[in-house]
Amino acid sequence: MTSEERQQSGPARATGEGTRSPYRGRFAPSPSGPLHFGSLVAALGSYLDARANNGQWLLRIEDVDQPRTVRGAADHIRRTLERFGFAWDGEVLVQSRRLDFYHAALVRLQLDGDVYPCACSRREIASHSPPRSVDGALVYPGTCRAGLVGGRAARAWRLRLPDQVVAFDDRVQGPMQQNLQRAVGDIILLRADGQYAYQLAVVADDAAQGVNAVVRGVDLLDSTPRQIWLQRRLGLPTPTYAHLPVVTNAAGEKLSKQTRASAVDPAAGSALLSAALHFLGHPVPAEISAGPLGDFWRWAIASWSIDRVPALRGVCPG
Ligand code: GLU
Repeated sequence: MTSEERQQSGPARATGEGTRSPYRGRFAPSPSGPLHFGSLVAALGSYLDARANNGQWLLRIEDVDQPRTVRGAADHIRRTLERFGFAWDGEVLVQSRRLDFYHAALVRLQLDGDVYPCACSRREIASHSPPRSVDGALVYPGTCRAGLVGGRAARAWRLRLPDQVVAFDDRVQGPMQQNLQRAVGDIILLRADGQYAYQLAVVADDAAQGVNAVVRGVDLLDSTPRQIWLQRRLGLPTPTYAHLPVVTNAAGEKLSKQTRASAVDPAAGSALLSAALHFLGHPVPAEISAGPLGDFWRWAIASWSIDRVPALRGVCPG
C-alpha cells in the first residue's frame, strides 16, 4: 500500500471485529533461518501487547513453504525464545502438519467459485508485460480466469481478487486501503510445486487458533487486505492488526536470511530485549536493561503502550 492510498475511511472497512475479549495474539515465524534482531522485535511487540492486555500469546511455526524451510531452524527459534524468557500458551502449531486443513479451505473456495485453475507459466505471464504488484511480482493478467484454454493442464490454483477496495485501521500505521485487483491481482493459493501459499495458511490458522489480535512486521502490511478478503470468503472473523516498523540494515534492507542477518544470542538477555523495546518507542532505564530477565519482563509489560510505537515502515537502529 502506498501512502497515497491511506485515507480516513473506505468503502469496505474491516475494523474492530476482532476486539472481543479475551485477547489472543501470536508470533508466527517462518523457520527459514535463526531468530535475528528483526524477528526478536516482532516477537517482543506481539508478546508485550498480548500480556499487557491480559491476553494469550501463541507460537506458530510457519513452515508451510517447505523449500524455504531450514532444518533445525524451528527448534533453534523455540529454544532462543525460551532462553529470552518468552512463555507461550498451549501447544506450538506447526503448519507442515496441517496440509489437510489447508486443503479443506481450498476445497471450500473451489466449491464457492472463488478460486480457479491456472495453466500459465511465469514466462507466459511475463510475455504480457503486466504491471508489478505491491509485492514486486507481476500482476496476473487473468488469462485463465474464464477457464483453461485448449485442454491445457492446471499448474496452480488462483484466488479471484475483485476490483474492490479493502480498508482497515491499523493500530500502529493508521487507516489503510488497497484495491485488490489493481495492487495485487489474482494470487496463487496452491502452487505448481504442490505447496500451499502463506496467505491461505495464515488466514486458516489465525482463525483456527482463535487469534483476534495480529501484531507483526510492517513488511506484511500489504498482505493484510488480501487476508481480510480471504477471511470474508471463508466466513472467518477479522482480527485487529498492528504492523510494527521493521529493522533494516544501513542499506535500508529488511533484516532477513537473504540479507544475512545474524542470529540473536540469548546470553545478551535484558540488554538485547531492551534494545528491541527501545526500537519500538520505549526507552528502557539503565538499571532494567542491565538487570535480570524477570525485572525486564515486569517493567516491559507494565510500560507497554502500542501508541508509542512509531508509525514507520523501516528503521535502521543506531
Ligand atoms: N511467517 C511470517 C514471517 O516469518 C509471519 C507471518 C505473520 O505474522 O502473519 O515473516
